[in-house]
Amino acid sequence: RAARRAERDWYWFNNLASAPVDQRLGLWREIQVAMEEDQFYLVFQPVFDLQSNQANSAEVLLRWRHPEKGLISPAVFIPFAEQTGLVKRIDQWVLEAVARQLRSWQEQGLSMPLLAINLSGISFLRADLEQHLRTTFHGDTGLLSHLVLELTEGVLIEDMDRIQLQVEQVRQLGVKVAIDDFGTGYSSLSRIRNLPIDHIKIDQSFIEDIVSNPQCTKIVEAIMLMAHGLRLQVIAEGVEHEDQLHLLRQMGCDLVQGYLLSHPLERREFETMLQQDLEIDLEID
Ligand code: C2E
Ligand code: MG
Ligand code: MG
Ligand code: MG
Repeated sequence: RAARRAERDWYWFNNLASAPVDQRLGLWREIQVAMEEDQFYLVFQPVFDLQSNQANSAEVLLRWRHPEKGLISPAVFIPFAEQTGLVKRIDQWVLEAVARQLRSWQEQGLSMPLLAINLSGISFLRADLEQHLRTTFHGDTGLLSHLVLELTEGVLIEDMDRIQLQVEQVRQLGVKVAIDDFGTGYSSLSRIRNLPIDHIKIDQSFIEDIVSNPQCTKIVEAIMLMAHGLRLQVIAEGVEHEDQLHLLRQMGCDLVQGYLLSHPLERREFETMLQQDLEIDLEID
């Protein structure tokens, strides 16, 4: 069923890419409606700390339940939204939803996780980013200290002085910064050595082949060594198999995320986990 759905989505969007303007406009409007009518919602994928074997953070991932087309993957509509600039509004929708969610957990007395959100380059580079985050979180620095911004490596091709300034400003709010999909772009660790970031996330394409492909093993090892030299924590994403986890542990990887440990969870499931004080042990290893 999932495969058929993916295929259907794929056709829909593939045709859209070369579709006449009015159809693209149609999708633009549908995304607007999705934001207004709560067709968007968030799921939470726990990230596990390999020291404590517990999850104290999660990545927030956007989901779109379309009334006719069903579930549409962000891998499909985010690129469209990025091309059209609409992603700025989507990012704002996500930020607001996360602020509300954190406040609600705080009020319920749940132990609060770090929440990592994916921020598109255009949203990260806005000149008023710091003020914007303050406003969205009503100046609540307690809540802001639970926020992590994931930037894709692609952002780093921009002017580094500008990026440095943005990173410094958000960190003054207590917000953490991670570089996502590391290894896929043009940047290198030397490029980020002056950036006061907190984490790098090694792209899942490297993790996929980490056991079977010795070159991949070496690359991940090298990234890990250099990152630790720069005092950055390393997150491996897309961990699906025990042997990958085993190897990552041996290499001294700090944090892991992937289907082996947990799929992205709907809010209620994730809350159940929070109520157990995040005491989810890795039953593997
Ligand atoms: P990403 O930030 O690299 O997110 C990781 C993706 O890998 C997610 O896909 C997640 O569900 C998937 N994943 C997690 N564990 C595994 C695993 O073990 N194996 C495999 N094969 N995949 C795994 P998802 O949710 O479809 O998101 C795709 C991309 O869409 C994200 O990549 C991110 O770039 C973008 N995205 C998602 N949510 C948002 C959002 O709220 N705002 C923005 N701007 N972009 C978003
Ligand atoms: Mg991400
Ligand atoms: Mg990623
Ligand atoms: Mg990705």
